[in-house]
Amino acid sequence: MVGIKDNIRKMAGYVPGEQPRGSDFIKLNTNENPYPPSPKVLEAIRSHLTSDKLRKYPEPLGEQFRQTAGKVLKIDPESILIGNGSDDILTILIRAFVPEMGLVASLHPSYILYRSLAEIQNAQFELIPFTPDWQIPIPCPCQNANIQFLANPNSPTGTMVSRANLLSWLNQNSIPTVIDEAYGDFADENALSLASDRVIITRSFSKSYSLAGMRIGFAVASPMLIRELIKVKDSYNCDVLSLAAAAAAIADQDYFLECRSKIITTRKRLELSLTHLGFQVVPSQANFVWAKHPVIASNEIYQQLKIKNILIRYMNYPSFGDGLRISVGTDAEIDQLLFYLDTILKGLNL
Ligand SMILES: *Cc1c(COP(=O)(O)O)cnc(C)c1O
Repeated sequence: MVGIKDNIRKMAGYVPGEQPRGSDFIKLNTNENPYPPSPKVLEAIRSHLTSDKLRKYPEPLGEQFRQTAGKVLKIDPESILIGNGSDDILTILIRAFVPEMGLVASLHPSYILYRSLAEIQNAQFELIPFTPDWQIPIPCPCQNANIQFLANPNSPTGTMVSRANLLSWLNQNSIPTVIDEAYGDFADENALSLASDRVIITRSFSKSYSLAGMRIGFAVASPMLIRELIKVKDSYNCDVLSLAAAAAAIADQDYFLECRSKIITTRKRLELSLTHLGFQVVPSQANFVWAKHPVIASNEIYQQLKIKNILIRYMNYPSFGDGLRISVGTDAEIDQLLFYLDTILKGLNL
């Protein structure tokens, strides 16, 4: 591979969750929303599906989306940066903040993409283990990173750090900090009000707005920092259809709140039922649940469910261990999952 940089050749590369085509699977492995997007999203896409709109470049900064999102979230539109999925935002942040041989820090276990992005940048990557009750250790052992990441709620655990814990972490150092709120819409609270020159909140339309296929996300920070980040992003990083879809999605808060509330109700039922089946379950603030059976290997359960065409996520982290991350589906999908889990556990004579 002539000319490919050493750090790229040496890295493993991020492996996304399985995305089987067709609808044979009950798909509970990548935290997509089980409900369709708002009907207004489809309307908006249809009205933008004209030759003229496709022929021209989209708005570089997504002005209409920023105006709409700013109004709904009660924030300055200038504090919003659009991204081709929030993964695009994470890439922009690493490129903007981390020099070659720099240092990226992340709480652990968490979103694996942070490491891949650090490796692409040829930077070091440091893990900060969560405390046993899923908080950030204070004092935090990472004092000289160029950027630090916290997914809150966290993946794969669905846990959240408390406001007090988050504030002491932020006050204790001055490292640029990303609070990845891909699941923030499912949680009881969020950190939008903490956005600043060094605190960046990232959001996604993939989970809470049922638009994983459109690829749209955004960051919130001070307008001054956003102006710097705009220099780093591709000029036209979001297309005309996804910008229209996202604006329509966030404008329809009634629909959003209805889906959110169904998912939270099902999440609570899933947590309770898994506990009854003997699983150790961590209370979740996201649209998935992290569970582990004390006797049966997680990988075994994952495999057996796959045979039944139910796809969940088996995760195994160095110096942490493994477990199962199960997305909250519809009630009918969760009923099927619970039925087969019960069958599998009985079949193993426990
Ligand atoms: C899903 C996810 C993302 C990426 O979301 P996209 O908007 O689809 O790129 C980012 N962070 C975390 C923690 C996620 O789970």
